[in-house]
Amino acid sequence: MPSRLVRNPMPKQDPQERIRNFSEVALGYPEELARQEAARCIKCPKRPCVSGCPVGVDIPDFIELVTKGKYLEAAQKIKEKNSLPAICGRVCPQETQCEIQCTLGKRGEPVAIGALERFVADYERAHDDRDHTVSGDPPDLPNGEMVAVVGSGPAGLTCAADLAKLGYRVTLFESLHAPGGVLRYGIPEFRLPKAILDEEISYVKSLGVEIRLNALIGQIYSIDDLFKMGYKAIFIGVGAGLPHFLGIPGENLSGVYSANEFLTRSNLMKAYLFPEYATPIKVGRRVAVVGAGNVAMDSARTALRLGAEEVTIVYRRSRKEMPARHEEIINAEEEGVKFALLTNPIRVIGNEKKWVSGLECIKMELGEPDESGRRRPVPVPGSEFVMEIDTMISAIGTDPNPLLPKLIPGLKVGRHGNIEVDPETGMTNISGIFAGGDIVTGSATVIAAMGAGKVAARGIDRYLRGSKEQ
Ligand SMILES: Cc1cc2nc3c(=O)[nH]c(=O)nc-3n(C[C@H](O)[C@H](O)[C@H](O)COP(=O)(O)OP(=O)(O)OC[C@H]3O[C@@H](n4cnc5c(N)ncnc54)[C@H](O)[C@@H]3O)c2cc1C
Ligand code: SF4
Repeated sequence: MPSRLVRNPMPKQDPQERIRNFSEVALGYPEELARQEAARCIKCPKRPCVSGCPVGVDIPDFIELVTKGKYLEAAQKIKEKNSLPAICGRVCPQETQCEIQCTLGKRGEPVAIGALERFVADYERAHDDRDHTVSGDPPDLPNGEMVAVVGSGPAGLTCAADLAKLGYRVTLFESLHAPGGVLRYGIPEFRLPKAILDEEISYVKSLGVEIRLNALIGQIYSIDDLFKMGYKAIFIGVGAGLPHFLGIPGENLSGVYSANEFLTRSNLMKAYLFPEYATPIKVGRRVAVVGAGNVAMDSARTALRLGAEEVTIVYRRSRKEMPARHEEIINAEEEGVKFALLTNPIRVIGNEKKWVSGLECIKMELGEPDESGRRRPVPVPGSEFVMEIDTMISAIGTDPNPLLPKLIPGLKVGRHGNIEVDPETGMTNISGIFAGGDIVTGSATVIAAMGAGKVAARGIDRYLRGSKEQ
């Protein structure tokens, strides 16, 4: 009899195999394991796990349905609150959200809530014969009012889905040729297969949401144009896709990428399908990835799969401060990614053809905590050294893209260009304009963006009902 305090591990592809392919690394629970894991939940009366979920999924209720083998009902239960469960089951930082609140975690390992969510969503995809591709008449939309959602990342998709469920006519405008935001162009196939993203987007469409692609708001239509076209409220969920750079000499050499560019070329331009797609991307033999968040891990693991022989994460703090999900750090390690910790780049070195050939770094030590609460890295004098590399990928964070906010006269934005909103409603300082996700918080998480989309959908509903009653 397995102990209640120990969780059932999820099977994964062998590291030596998986670095040669882009297929999913984590393979998901088979049915038997899912039921065993679900049976660990003790159904706490106070449901602490639910309070850790930014979209309020009824976690113990869906888990109970799993124990009874009622998987399709479990999927419906999750979808009452979360329109993208297969995505969240894969990429949500459950360990710091619902699972950290789980009572079992006090003495043992918390219930694998994320893995169960993934199991349920995958089961539904495999066994539900309802057609989520949209055809024929849209569902009945009793409220009738038109709402525009700008940006099709998790914030926009959630806001659009919730508004459609409330009966609004929603048009989602996306600047790229495919919807999904970072879920499509950032997170690699081996963590989130595009087919799963497509399926969940089809579900959002099946709720009646119209998606208009290649529609850069600010260029083809201004926000004013959208109001003139009859949209009564607008949600802005345009993310924070403007990469930071280190600001060190040599960053303009060929072979230096922002993680954003590197992952976009791999994901959207299908570099991972070489030679079927001849994408302009040069990976090189030795790659340094600067940063230690999820974006850095994704870049490092993508570089390995695209043929790099040696990939090193360069991070100025220690392992304890690495912001990536623990699971992804372990995955990277298993795949052979190296870690140069307490190390900071100070100069990119180029060869006579202006291609990267090295990275000069300095060793660091940790001093007093800074404003982020983490101990401040301080250079160790005289510890400079050079790493020989062919490619550098900078994954040190992103800022909101100022394009759209700048075009909205009078819109209140913060110091870093993020849009300011009322946290209760998601409304900006301009009536009828709402915002949420990374454009408000700076780069955060999928589930936080979804939570913001939900708050704004409720805010928009209240706003539109209020304006009708006036
Ligand atoms: C590589 C990578 C890995 C990550 N891994 C994780 C993870 O494992 N777990 C996790 O929780 N989070 C992860 N994140 C963070 C997470 O993906 C983001 O916090 C989340 O996607 C933000 O959602 P969003 O809807 O605010 O914006 P985005 O996902 O950025 O979507 C914004 C969308 O708006 C579109 N857009 C922009 N401007 C316009 C315009 N003017 N008109 C029309 N459309 C526009 C963009 O093209 C984009 O599609 C990762 C991020 C990256 C980059
Ligand atoms: S806290 Fe953990 S054990 Fe308690 S109901 Fe939630 S998932 Fe189950």
